[in-house]
Amino acid sequence: MIPLYDPKPEIAAQRAEFDARLAGVLDTGSFILGPEVTEFETAMADFIGVEHCIGVNSGTDALIIGLRAAGVKPGDEVITSSFTFFATGEAIDLIGATPVFVDVDPFSMNLDPAMVRQAITSKTTAIVPVHIFGRPAEMTAITAIADANDLIVLEDCAQSFGAASEARLTGSMGHAGAFSFFPSKNLGGFGDGGAITTDDPAIAEEAIRLRNHGSIKRYENEVFGYNSRLDSLQAAILNVKLPYLQSNNERRRTIAAAYNDAFGDLPGIIVPAFPERDRHVFGQYTMRVLDARRERLAEAVNQRGVSTAVYYPTPLHMLPVYRDRKHGPLTVTEQLATEVLSVPMFPGMTDDQLEAVIEAVLESAMAISNND
Ligand SMILES: *Cc1c(COP(=O)(O)O)cnc(C)c1O
Repeated sequence: MIPLYDPKPEIAAQRAEFDARLAGVLDTGSFILGPEVTEFETAMADFIGVEHCIGVNSGTDALIIGLRAAGVKPGDEVITSSFTFFATGEAIDLIGATPVFVDVDPFSMNLDPAMVRQAITSKTTAIVPVHIFGRPAEMTAITAIADANDLIVLEDCAQSFGAASEARLTGSMGHAGAFSFFPSKNLGGFGDGGAITTDDPAIAEEAIRLRNHGSIKRYENEVFGYNSRLDSLQAAILNVKLPYLQSNNERRRTIAAAYNDAFGDLPGIIVPAFPERDRHVFGQYTMRVLDARRERLAEAVNQRGVSTAVYYPTPLHMLPVYRDRKHGPLTVTEQLATEVLSVPMFPGMTDDQLEAVIEAVLESAMAISNND
């Protein structure tokens, strides 16, 4: 079975580097924050093109701490997408604010700026655009709306490390960006990890305070924070992997282009576009399967030895925890949830595996259309 994601080829390729870096950390006997973390934060800030990067222990915490550090308060309304991983909404609720879900564009699957504008009320203080599947959200329009209404923008970059809108990387366009190093993300560690990027020294200082129990000076706790530090071993791994990110993202784009060539003309399938001015980094390769044929296609592909997944089968506003909340129409979101299908996407995929995925999808599409 070809998996959706396989970290083993990347680990094998850089095994000696990992072993040496990890051994270096073991020799220091010091595991929380430390020089590996500082080195990584500096390298990541340079890479993204921001002044500050603050390592934390997950992408979820990067959102929570990023929201609080940027000044979002309990009772505030925060406009975001319902077509995302649960953590985006969860983080907003966990700080006592209210997510206001607005609809997405059917092609980019990202927030529709016109819908964002309409959803602004006197309680709105922030927008959390999600760069879903590695495709940058419409940041020019979103930051213009935010500026005109004095709103904070926190980018959810969990799936978009290395993606760019025009020349600016995701995580450098809003007031802050939240990243995840969950193993299957574009820059994945060997466990949980995350980071916040920002140009704003006040946001950076507050994030440093919040990640460490609300204290910058030891035993001087100024606010209620979190135990959410990036650990030295994860940072050591990320220090090995960051220099390979560009080439890994290039490999993802090559795989996506091959899929698009193969699947682009299949009837009833819409492949993810390569946007003209933006750099899509394909955290996932997700197509749309129209006319209620997704389940049949997925089953046929699985029978041919290729894994598939549905990200995400239930939009946030339809989950049990949000079901009783009021929201505007989310027609596109609800339709996408019935259509999306992701196929294997990882930089270590061999050309043979790539061919096998293509063949499985083409044969399956043929088989189900013959059965219609
Ligand atoms: C993975 C992900 C998160 C959460 O990151 P964790 O590191 O798993 O906590 C948040 N938002 C999106 C869009 C994600 O894909």
